[in-house]
Amino acid sequence: MSDQNGDSPSFRVRMAQRSNAIAGSAAMHGQNPMQHGLVGFNILRRAHFNKGSAFSLQERQMLCLHGLLPPRVMAEDDQAARIMNGLRKRSSDLDRYTDLMDLLGRNEKLFYRVLCDHIQELMPIVYTPTVGKACQEYGNIFRQPKGLFITIHDLGHVESILANWPERDIKAICFTDGERILGLGDLGCDGMGIPVGKLALYTACAGIKPHNLLPVILDVGTDNEELLQDQFYIGLRQKRDRSDRYDALIREFIESVMDWFGPTTLLQFEDFGNRNAFRLLNDYRDVCCTFNDDIQGTASVALAGICASLKLTKKTLADNVFLFQGAGEAAIGIAMLIVAALKQEGVNEEDARKRIWLVDSRGLVVKNRAKGGIEGTHKVPFAHEHAYIETLQEAVEVLKPTCIVGVAAVPRAFTKEICETMAKNHERPIIFALSNPTSKAECTAEEAYSWTQGRCVYASGSPFKDVEYEGKRFVPGQGNNCYIFPGVALGIIACQARHVTDECFLVAAQSLAALVEECDLTLGRVYPCLDKIREVSTQIAIDVARLCYKNKLASALPEPDDLSSFIRSHQYTTDYENFVPDVYSWPNGKL
Ligand code: NAD
Repeated sequence: MSDQNGDSPSFRVRMAQRSNAIAGSAAMHGQNPMQHGLVGFNILRRAHFNKGSAFSLQERQMLCLHGLLPPRVMAEDDQAARIMNGLRKRSSDLDRYTDLMDLLGRNEKLFYRVLCDHIQELMPIVYTPTVGKACQEYGNIFRQPKGLFITIHDLGHVESILANWPERDIKAICFTDGERILGLGDLGCDGMGIPVGKLALYTACAGIKPHNLLPVILDVGTDNEELLQDQFYIGLRQKRDRSDRYDALIREFIESVMDWFGPTTLLQFEDFGNRNAFRLLNDYRDVCCTFNDDIQGTASVALAGICASLKLTKKTLADNVFLFQGAGEAAIGIAMLIVAALKQEGVNEEDARKRIWLVDSRGLVVKNRAKGGIEGTHKVPFAHEHAYIETLQEAVEVLKPTCIVGVAAVPRAFTKEICETMAKNHERPIIFALSNPTSKAECTAEEAYSWTQGRCVYASGSPFKDVEYEGKRFVPGQGNNCYIFPGVALGIIACQARHVTDECFLVAAQSLAALVEECDLTLGRVYPCLDKIREVSTQIAIDVARLCYKNKLASALPEPDDLSSFIRSHQYTTDYENFVPDVYSWPNGKL
């Protein structure tokens, strides 16, 4: 029988239940699709809320989704298994990358569930090396924006662009100008894949909530001729603006972020060119809450690997002589942090520097080098009084480093002769081939182990497969910055630090090295297994937050008694929310 409005009683009962359920659910959850005015079809289009086939029957009815989804209600685990099944059937990593990015745009929780549960397998897809390939192909594979695009022409209007972003509760931003993407050079606006990938790792590795994160590209043009001619290039078709307007854009961007999202918003500089990276870090490190991952994050992960290596080489840090192939952001960052660590061990600054040597594109960096290129750069503290040496091979022979670190993006730079010389001079030489992506590595894991008769301690920037050498299995460690930046960021965000200091990265390196276990070292791995990344990041966050409280940098006061629970309370779960509380289900559990 129908009432006055023509609705059947059972329909009215259901509508009353629905509005009660929505009100109850809204009260229970900070974020609710109905609070956002989303109904049915629109909910399926909001990745933040969408659960796809996992919406329960109650939710489908209450949220106007009934009939919009296939009838079978799937568990999140089954959905994740289906996604993995599809990914494994794909024939290329780039296809896997685009599938994963599509998933991120469709169902955020499921994306993170899949990524967290398969971090070892998927890290090389969402990050180096595949992300590098993705950036090179960005114009062809671009489907959906996942962050903000701010151009040099937006100067004077940056805040209004920030206001267009749908979330207001932003706690961290990763931004690039695309000038030095991995070791691939200037990719302009196509570099957007990097901040997107890095922030995905903030969530996957440390559990930082995705709606608190914002990837940004500052498009100031590109000097990459190929891109400028490319029909499908997504950025501004103009040369890089290197005028004062560039600095003005950076300044306006940082000030607008602090105004709009708050003064403790963490700003991660990412893949800026050498000429700007150090300068901007120095300009802004005391102004806002910022760090440069290529300089400081790299330094921390490399130092952690070196400290863990000492357990294998049975040496102290001070017993080592370090030789870097490269003298850019990564090399200088690592060198400076080694100096800080040595100082903590009681070595004075000058002696600490003397243990570190750099080779750049013009040869060994020495005082008064005729080939120049040193004055006024960050290489100066490491330019020692020494005869000039032209090649890396010769530098290895003369200086007898215990540790060589490749960060020049010059592939194959660690030749057979160089590795053999390292093995001749030292029982357990340390060989870190950190250049990314894989194609830029100084030598492969297999080469390093075989050229040193399995004696070297090896780590790479991009992942390499396990190596069998004379019946022994080696698992090469990946000096991946993801061991550091997500944990540091979580600690900084949780305690609302006003600044990020170098000491944060020293503490993070020490935390990470301490988490390398005997079972890792037995396999030759100087980093923990990636499967433990959530645990690792959480510990780093706790240690970094403790440091910030100790140094009075934290503004989330009072200091929590239990830092571990405090940090964990900021972490994201990949379990779906129930938008319709169980109290609204029928007694037999069915509607
Ligand atoms: P950068 O542009 O700041 O520095 C590159 C340096 O290499 C410069 O000093 C340059 O002079 C030097 N160089 C160029 N050609 C050379 C040659 N033939 N011989 C010796 N030196 C040469 O870049 P960056 O940020 O220092 O990064 C360099 C590489 O390190 C990239 O491949 C990057 O992906 C990699 N990297 C790896 C990690 C990691 O594994 N965790 C982190 C950061 C950077």
